[in-house]
Amino acid sequence: MEIKEIRTLILNDRPNQLWLEIETDEGVTGLGETFFGAQSVAAYVHTVAAPHLIGKNPLDIEGHARALKPRHGFRSNGAEIRGNSAIDIALWDLMGKAFDAPLHTCLGGASRNEIAVYNTCAGYNYLKPSVRLAQARSLDWGGTEQGPYDDLQAFLDTPEDLARSLIDEGYTAMKIWPFDRAAMKHGGQYIDREDLEAGIDIVRRIRKAVGDRIGIMMECHSLWNLPTAKRIARRLEEFDLEWLEDMVRPDDIGALAELSAFTSTPICASELMGTRHNYRDLLEARAASVVMIDLTWCGGPTEARKIAAMADTYSRPVTMHDCTGPVSFACGVHLSMHAPNAMLQEMTRAHYSSWYRDVVDGLPLVENGRVMAPQSPGHGLSLSKGLRKNPGLQVQVTRQE
Ligand SMILES: [Mg+2]
Repeated sequence: MEIKEIRTLILNDRPNQLWLEIETDEGVTGLGETFFGAQSVAAYVHTVAAPHLIGKNPLDIEGHARALKPRHGFRSNGAEIRGNSAIDIALWDLMGKAFDAPLHTCLGGASRNEIAVYNTCAGYNYLKPSVRLAQARSLDWGGTEQGPYDDLQAFLDTPEDLARSLIDEGYTAMKIWPFDRAAMKHGGQYIDREDLEAGIDIVRRIRKAVGDRIGIMMECHSLWNLPTAKRIARRLEEFDLEWLEDMVRPDDIGALAELSAFTSTPICASELMGTRHNYRDLLEARAASVVMIDLTWCGGPTEARKIAAMADTYSRPVTMHDCTGPVSFACGVHLSMHAPNAMLQEMTRAHYSSWYRDVVDGLPLVENGRVMAPQSPGHGLSLSKGLRKNPGLQVQVTRQE
């Protein structure tokens, strides 16, 4: 089997999203995905990676991962690593199809056949509208949308109802980010007393409404400096949160280690880290209790399963990211099935119930707050007919001469 063609696909109205297809001479296609800077990733894929891969055996995944290690941007989740992540996912998908086995079987087999999901309380259009420099523009959250799962607006306005709605659907945990607006105000350098109280109040209202029937993860999007993160963390201790996520930027491992030592709440980091070399530093410094991985950013399943194994060696659980795209979610689910130290899978019910369904077929089944091990070959997803017919779809192709 040889790689014959590599395609990248970008939708005009989802400019951050990149899908990638690798097609073989036997007519089998693997699907990959990544997020942010889609045009830069496409340029990398077609000028650097595709010329190397065309004509090669798609099943030599480790060899390709090593050959594509960039000379620049190697210790990051920059365009090269995001492109390699999308390629690696597509290659694993192809392997699953070649051997008629689901991705988690290809990764080394299952540790479980279902896992609890928690809901990330984003709205339907969260992260959709524009290419952004950073999450630091998260005041512009994609707008308020009509629908039962407008969960971002709900955690700000009616957190009690939101918590009850999640419990009714079987969720046992929820993730919110009520301090982001306050971070915008002073560039994350200081929090006004009333903003601190307003953020705390949202957590208090959830606890008051439903008690301990739901776990709460606090997302902070790396917006705070260390002293302010400590202030917020100290106030949140009484609520026994599941974790504090990305309170400070994960490029300061020392700050994360200091925060971990400071608070009794578990520190979670970080979907924003690329490659196992960064995770090694995080683990060596004992800087996080919960290790978050995004397979579309860290280097793909090849890198992610090594990160998961390394975290296990350091007695840390891993949890896989979702919020950016359906392939990311599905691959996270497969690694959650494989990795013995997986704890909870992230999902975004607003996305899962709406646009994920528009762009792909074959989403993993979520029932009563649990996601089941997908049984289709590969990761199980394929791009939908609707997506392919979308007039705003840009397709770029590199093919065998
Ligand atoms: Mg996060």
